Amino acid sequence: MTLSLDLTAEGARDALRSRAATAEKPSLIGLTRAELAAALIESGTVPERQAKMRAQQLWHWMYVRGVSDFAGMFNISKDLRAELDKHFTVARPEIVEEQISADGTRKWLFRFPPRGAGRPVEIETVYIPEEGRGTLCISSQVGCTLTCSFCHTGTQKLVRNLTAEEILAQLLTARDRLGDFPDRDTPDGAIVPAEGRKVSNIVMMGMGEPLYNFEAVKKALLIASDGDGLSLSKRRITLSTSGVVPEILRTGEEIGVMLAISLHATNDDLRDLLVPINKKYPLKELIAACRAYPGLSNAKRITFEYVMLKDVNDSIEDAKGLIKLLKGIPAKINLIPFNPWPGTNYQCSDWETIEKFADYINNAGYASPIRTPRGRDILAACGQLKSESERMRKVDRLALEAMMIAGHGEA
Ligand code: SAH
Ligand code: SF4
Repeated sequence: MTLSLDLTAEGARDALRSRAATAEKPSLIGLTRAELAAALIESGTVPERQAKMRAQQLWHWMYVRGVSDFAGMFNISKDLRAELDKHFTVARPEIVEEQISADGTRKWLFRFPPRGAGRPVEIETVYIPEEGRGTLCISSQVGCTLTCSFCHTGTQKLVRNLTAEEILAQLLTARDRLGDFPDRDTPDGAIVPAEGRKVSNIVMMGMGEPLYNFEAVKKALLIASDGDGLSLSKRRITLSTSGVVPEILRTGEEIGVMLAISLHATNDDLRDLLVPINKKYPLKELIAACRAYPGLSNAKRITFEYVMLKDVNDSIEDAKGLIKLLKGIPAKINLIPFNPWPGTNYQCSDWETIEKFADYINNAGYASPIRTPRGRDILAACGQLKSESERMRKVDRLALEAMMIAGHGEA
């Protein structure tokens, strides 16, 4: 059963909108410390000699305490708070819809201002709680320029890149809604524990190709992992790419997070069809870039994602090819049951086939978790997030749910 809080109802929506960011005032979220200090000076709110200290203070309120209103920043004088509020905002985006699945998975539909794209844009963010951790699946773009043939996002045009602020807003707002800023009201100077967080991990596996929005993604992830702020360990942040080879090394050197590669095929002919960026950066180049990824070890492995498509890439020959291809790379293999969508020609492999494939890989020495479909009742699947313009009608959604249940052979 789904507990769905449909915030499209006027009253509920107004309550959240009242604190949502207005497009006119620039946000302080998503700026580097230096940019933050510069913005304070430029606006005339803070004298130059105080800028560094004030930037540090704001950083703490925004990222440790998760405050979304200057009024809550108690160690800043009332006058300065009012002045800041005149020029800037730290507010959250509008939440159009929040759904909570029976298994605890949550899905939000956030609305951001147009920023030149013509209309406001909407994106989905998904939270998946598991034993011992909670993972937030974050989007980097609205739509995608790439056209992977099994991916629903691939059927949508790129509307625009998300800004660093919007990428971080997904994390901040999810933590708000999960009550995951418990230290919001602790006294100033108190030690704020980073353990026991509801959002312990993030994966850039929502909509879009993060390495085609490199600068914004880099900025957002460096802020998310900043030890004086949101403090997520880089080992708990995974960036998934379809294989933008020239940016892979930079990801390791400049961001330093864990890498996931959407592999899905072990020969160029098939990968050209499934993940067309392969025509530009074929497997040989992709695998070479993976081998060169900085800091790899048995404790720090690359995750290779492999979507299980019936009669397409799911034979034992394919499993053999996979092991051969990854030889010598510290790797994890993530088998993803294909998540069907209306209009797709692909089907998910049978459960038995997936298990045989997984067994082969296990015997070759890889732990190969099968990513269990989660939040099925609210359709919260990474790689299948959609924008407002493409939102499914309810009847299609129900049909899809039925397909998924049938396809995966369990309720
Ligand atoms: N653009 C990036 C990140 C977003 S997609 C990338 O391609 O890696 C996140 C993951 O979901 C990718 O591995 C993608 O191939 C996979 N995916 C996309 N559509 C899917 C579907 N319908 N079923 C299962 N996995 C899917
Ligand atoms: Fe874009 Fe990733 Fe989907 Fe490919 S799988 S179309 S890169 S979102």
